[in-house]
Amino acid sequence: MENPYAWPQSLYAEWTEALTQSAVNRYPDPHPANLLNHLRDAFQIPAASEILLGNGSDELLQILVTAIARPGAKVLSVAPTFVMYALLARVAGLEYLSVPLTATFDLDEAALLETIRQQQPELIFLAYPNNPTGNRFDDRVVEAVLNLASGLVILDEAYAAFTDHTYLTRLKQFKNLLVLRTLSKMGMAGLRLGYLIGSPVWIEQLDKIRLPYNISVLTQVTAELALRHKAVFDEQVRLIRAERTRLFQALQAIHGVQVFSSEANFLLLRTPKGRALPWHQGLRDCGILIKNLHGSAPSLEDCLRVTVGTPAENDRFISALTAISASIAPDVV
Ligand SMILES: *Cc1c(COP(=O)(O)O)cnc(C)c1O
Repeated sequence: MENPYAWPQSLYAEWTEALTQSAVNRYPDPHPANLLNHLRDAFQIPAASEILLGNGSDELLQILVTAIARPGAKVLSVAPTFVMYALLARVAGLEYLSVPLTATFDLDEAALLETIRQQQPELIFLAYPNNPTGNRFDDRVVEAVLNLASGLVILDEAYAAFTDHTYLTRLKQFKNLLVLRTLSKMGMAGLRLGYLIGSPVWIEQLDKIRLPYNISVLTQVTAELALRHKAVFDEQVRLIRAERTRLFQALQAIHGVQVFSSEANFLLLRTPKGRALPWHQGLRDCGILIKNLHGSAPSLEDCLRVTVGTPAENDRFISALTAISASIAPDVV
């Protein structure tokens, strides 16, 4: 789910200059005001909200789970979803509850609300849009979850750059809502910078658990520079969104492929029965690595996930898959 485009050469001189001037003999600023202000401006973060920075949003997920960890505490999410929720909850010794999505990967409203009522989870994670399915959940059901939950609800907007929808604007309305974001998917996965947005009441408490120097000097300097040149990344995101549409249509045209619409930078597809593994291997043999999801959840039977690449990468993927789907046809078996 990475951005396939490297930083443009035009930024190198300024970037090198900024790095050479940064004081790596000093500890980083634990509350980097400039970087926080750049984030506020770049992503229209409401003035009334506070921001907690993490070494990737993964670290913020870990902080959230650690904050509520005590015997009997519960974390709730859906299945299939981002695997780190379950992993981090279990590592912290918490009970992890997971409500299956419907066959079309939507929230199962009745089951979800009933589980919240019965189990009263301290923490609920909803990836919006969801990974690995790429769809965005129905706002009516998300709102019902926010209204019913007595614990915190985290809307994980890791793919915010690739959708026009957000809960940032709803923070005022829901006191138990926190929005999780990252620079990773928009082009800075190697930098490791995530940010959690919400009421100061929550952020202040969570900040007590954060390790003081979790964001390195180099990350602070680089992220600030990147946000000053945000237009560069916006253009890359625009290209990826356009390619997502093209890739979707090309996949739809391949016989036997069912492709799901996505508001993220990847597409989920379903092969004919029993074909996910041979197709995945066939692509590997062509030097193309995508994600096999077959076997990871009952609803992901015969499913693969492909990240939207550059136009050339997408062309290569489409022609390889077209050839593979014709040679490894379902009726051969
Ligand atoms: C990739 C991803 C993350 C983690 O991103 P970081 O690189 O740790 O910031 C979090 N949530 C979802 C849903 C993701 O897909």
